[in-house]
Amino acid sequence: MFFNGNNILALAGKAIVLGKWIFTGQPTSAAIDITHRCNLKCRHCYFWREEHSGELSDVEMTSMMKSLKARGLRAVIIYGGEPTLRPGICHAACEIFDACLIFTNGTNGFPYLNRGKWIVSLDGPEKVNDEIRGDGVYTRAISGIKSAKRPPIVHMTISRLNMKFLDHFVREMMELPIEGIGFSFFTPSLDGDDSVCALSLEERDLLVLELLDLRRRFGPRVGITAAMARQFLAEGDFFAWNQKEMCPVSKRVLCFGPEGRRKMCTYGDRADCSRCGCAAVAAYRGAFFPFDFRTLLLIFGLMGLPGKRLLWPFLKTESVKPIKRTE
Ligand code: SF4
Ligand code: SF4
Repeated sequence: MFFNGNNILALAGKAIVLGKWIFTGQPTSAAIDITHRCNLKCRHCYFWREEHSGELSDVEMTSMMKSLKARGLRAVIIYGGEPTLRPGICHAACEIFDACLIFTNGTNGFPYLNRGKWIVSLDGPEKVNDEIRGDGVYTRAISGIKSAKRPPIVHMTISRLNMKFLDHFVREMMELPIEGIGFSFFTPSLDGDDSVCALSLEERDLLVLELLDLRRRFGPRVGITAAMARQFLAEGDFFAWNQKEMCPVSKRVLCFGPEGRRKMCTYGDRADCSRCGCAAVAAYRGAFFPFDFRTLLLIFGLMGLPGKRLLWPFLKTESVKPIKRTE
């Protein structure tokens, strides 16, 4: 990042977001589905199964983004559908907001983003990923990762479809030029039958411990700290936040569908909070309930704040501590 005037302002904006997280209960960020269109139909995706009445035009979308920024929402997470189907809006979001993360399925490459980062969703080694996401998706995404100007972050949604392949997948990803890899657990819907994907809490607990073991072996590019892991564990802090009223992220991140309508959370209005697997909640609560330096550094990295790079040598020698219940 070059330190021109705009980037210094953005740095100040990111510091304000963090300050608000620590000292206020105010919303700081927006999560926007910029399109309802997608070139894939992933097996675990709720979004393409929903009816969508349309999407805001380019002018309407950028105007909504500017008005959210003017209301004090300085960070944004862009979702779809597939955001790269609206490249102009992806670039506009990174110009408007001080911090910008854009989720993509990785099939359309990773154009350079000023002040923004790509998060590419992949759900396992090639065969497993393509059974979930479609034939040829893995190869296209990996080829994009290898030629990206800036290393993207990989994100895996863990479900019954890929739970046996964490070790294999993480090992494979560690060979690639990626910034790191993060994990969510499949969050079921209150409607319909999600049994093909949904994990029991007991299964999830074992997977959380496996992820921590992977971090021990491969280091901090495996994006789950002990404090984050505790948020998912039934014997940890999971029951302290797994209801809408208790969820910190839904209060601080205002979510919008492609037509500009507010929605409950990024998993939609019918997400089952009691079985939520959201990595953002784990990161937020992990960093601040109680304060945890390593998780805060992970958030710094996501926001493009410089602290993580300075403290990387200490993180590399991190020993993952045993998990203790805090509440
Ligand atoms: S790429 Fe994303 S939006 Fe498209 S079907 Fe898959 S999970 Fe859903
Ligand atoms: S599904 Fe998860 S992230 Fe969404 S509101 Fe419920 S608890 Fe929060």
